[in-house]
Amino acid sequence: MNNLKSGFGLGNLWGIDLGGTKIEGLILRSADDPEVLFRDRVPTQADKGYKHIIGQVEKLVNMMADAAGSKAGRIGFATPGILDPKLGIMKNCNTVAMNGQPMKADLEAQLGIQIEIANDADCFALAEAQFGVVKQQFPEAGVVFGVILGTGVGGGIVVNSKAIFGLQGIAGEWGHNYLDESGGPCYCGKSGCVEKVISGPALEQYYFKESGDKKTLKEIAALAESNSDPAATKTIARLVDFFGKALSVVINILDPDVVVIGGGVGNVDVIYKAGMDSLRRNVFNNRLDTPVVRPLLGDSAGVYGAAFLVN
Ligand SMILES: [Zn+2]
Repeated sequence: MNNLKSGFGLGNLWGIDLGGTKIEGLILRSADDPEVLFRDRVPTQADKGYKHIIGQVEKLVNMMADAAGSKAGRIGFATPGILDPKLGIMKNCNTVAMNGQPMKADLEAQLGIQIEIANDADCFALAEAQFGVVKQQFPEAGVVFGVILGTGVGGGIVVNSKAIFGLQGIAGEWGHNYLDESGGPCYCGKSGCVEKVISGPALEQYYFKESGDKKTLKEIAALAESNSDPAATKTIARLVDFFGKALSVVINILDPDVVVIGGGVGNVDVIYKAGMDSLRRNVFNNRLDTPVVRPLLGDSAGVYGAAFLVN
């Protein structure tokens, strides 16, 4: 394939976001000049199994190599799960075909390219730190906590532009910190996890129990705003209270320079108003200086973060 776009060569950053429905590839010119040189996707077709997923990745990498004229030496990968640093296998993926598989070793063998793998919350934090809202509004920030607050709850820590994975690969995974028994049992085997209290589905379930009606969190937030539905008001008060309690634990330990909140629950305005008052009440300090901001990159954060893994 002929591609006349200039800029391909050493210093390019190659990233792949390996999602449950699509696999997206991105080539950036460089970290300092992150012009997009290539961006395309293939379907994951996860129902066809793990070997098929690896084959789809290979297809995408060949498309990237055709565009660039040669293969990269390293590629960063965002995945829905975690690469266990000790065992070398994937864990905690909601694309369950990947769990228990030595994905890094298999990809390296298949592609002949060095692979860096991180979970999508780590990549979200890295992308917002290196390219998104933190880079634009808080360029001096050294420690960034990126939160995914949506269907699930996850998080990633970036220190001096590098993602921190931890001894067991679970650094930043605040979604399964204990928060409140009322959350009930979690798929992870524990109960009362942050994810069981303030994820979108957990709040929608709480509203359903209170009202007998099924509504989306967006609808519940609008009803609470207009003060017309006591169950909605109670649900949003629960979000506000427990958002502050859950995030205060992270701030007490890490004291980040900025917190970025992605995911559907992060679009609920009340988090940035009453939610901040709740956070202020719960941190171990007499004031709260920590900026808590919305992301800039949206769904693109995964693939950008993957590319910045090899910076
Ligand atoms: Zn859990």
